[in-house]
Amino acid sequence: MINFEYARARDVAEAVRQMAGDPSAKFIAGGTNLIDLMKKDVERPARLIDISRLPLKAVAETPEGGLRIGALVPNTDLAYHPVVEQRYPMLSSAILAGASQQLRNMASTGGNLLQRTRCHYFYDVATPCNKRDPGSGCSAITGCNRMHAILGASEACIATHPSDMCVALAALEAKVQVIGPAGERTIAFADFHRLPGSEPQRDTNLEPTEIVIAVELPARGFAKNYTYLKIRDRLSYAFALVSVAVGLDLGDGTIKEARFALGGVAHKPWRDAAAEAALRGQPATEASFQRAADLVLRNAKGLAHNAFKVDLARRAMVRALGQAARATPQSQSNKAIR
Ligand code: SF4
Repeated sequence: MINFEYARARDVAEAVRQMAGDPSAKFIAGGTNLIDLMKKDVERPARLIDISRLPLKAVAETPEGGLRIGALVPNTDLAYHPVVEQRYPMLSSAILAGASQQLRNMASTGGNLLQRTRCHYFYDVATPCNKRDPGSGCSAITGCNRMHAILGASEACIATHPSDMCVALAALEAKVQVIGPAGERTIAFADFHRLPGSEPQRDTNLEPTEIVIAVELPARGFAKNYTYLKIRDRLSYAFALVSVAVGLDLGDGTIKEARFALGGVAHKPWRDAAAEAALRGQPATEASFQRAADLVLRNAKGLAHNAFKVDLARRAMVRALGQAARATPQSQSNKAIR
């Protein structure tokens, strides 16, 4: 691990000023990902700017009927917040599906958005990796790629985004509020994370001098017909092979509105507007869900070790849509899948 300077920001304006003065610095909050990356020499910031004491820990209802979540709200507090549990249970469930209790206690809302891929080669500085060292190559394409992307990958990178929380935020159509030297702006969740393309080193559309200050949820939370289904190699403390967040609005057994996002399959939480539109007006049956899943996966591509994820994703989608339609969401304490 390298030597680095440490500074603490007293307020958001000072944090922005400090970062503008040294864009090679890194913000640190819970540190649940950044410290690991520094220990392994993947990240080598000369300076850390501690933002953990900034006043960004409030969860407040908005005049539009939504919810504004401060960027430093710990994942645990958010998962068990009464308004989240009642009105956005998909988000609560997704958070509780991730990491461990100790990590959720430390991890922040903003940090969850900004965590980096868990591709093994990204963490192994002895191997080529375009995300860590642009232009060096991608070891995963011809290497061990069991956990990697089946949708939206590029010749430069096939990594997946590791977050569970972000999959629910994508399905809920959250917005991300950020601030930088040029002022505040709001980014639609669908535009926050990027596909790898030819610049896999860029995970998000956040500028290096900007800081996430809040995540805003719209009024609609799909509190009745929802689920977060996560398929993984062991029942806890494992990243998703495939996960599915679903919210449905039903009337007399017909789908009025469908929202879903997949995790573990792409460089960002994966939405498919065409598949969601195709479900509108359809009966909430397995046949409808199967057609939607086929649509989502029409361009899916497996490699040597992850081709199984295409069929796994198809079956997970059908199962998750069924759970949501029956109003029998996946339990995160009893992980038996029904
Ligand atoms: Fe690096 Fe992406 Fe290839 Fe993994 S998949 S080795 S993160 S370039």
